[in-house]
Amino acid sequence: MTFTLDGIDGHEGRAIAVLHDGVEAPGPWQDYTLDRRTDHMPVAHHLIAGCSCDWRGTETFPTRAEALARQEWETDHAQPLLGLTVPAELAATIDVLARALHELRGTQPLVAVELAGRIHRLGGGHGPAAMTAARKAGSTWAEVGTAFGMSEQQVQSWYACERGLIQSA
Ligand SMILES: [Zn+2]
Repeated sequence: MTFTLDGIDGHEGRAIAVLHDGVEAPGPWQDYTLDRRTDHMPVAHHLIAGCSCDWRGTETFPTRAEALARQEWETDHAQPLLGLTVPAELAATIDVLARALHELRGTQPLVAVELAGRIHRLGGGHGPAAMTAARKAGSTWAEVGTAFGMSEQQVQSWYACERGLIQSA
């Protein structure tokens, strides 16, 4: 069974059987299970998620957990391609920044202030332009607000305010 998601072409996900020596087995993972394999066929050690574009997931799953492989393919690969979520690597980068800010607050507060300022300017600099682009691409203000973590009304005021600052600068 392969996994597909409406709206993305050229990406067909599947669970891949990985053998005890770490080699990816060709063909359906079910061929490497105890009950389905034919004589002398090896048995899978675990499953990973893969895609026809050669993307591979980072997690390992029990031999029959195809549903988990599908989930990883969807959340870490297919949905970011659709533009629905922030890719996992970027989310991890934000976590690193958040941890650094938390630590610096205790050890070097002024450096924490500088870092917070830089992050703030980054959002203020790129946020409004990203919102303009999202609106042009057909997103509603409600969708833009949800993505930004604000209500529709809040995000529109924030946008107007930031735009005003940029234009008068
Ligand atoms: Zn793919």
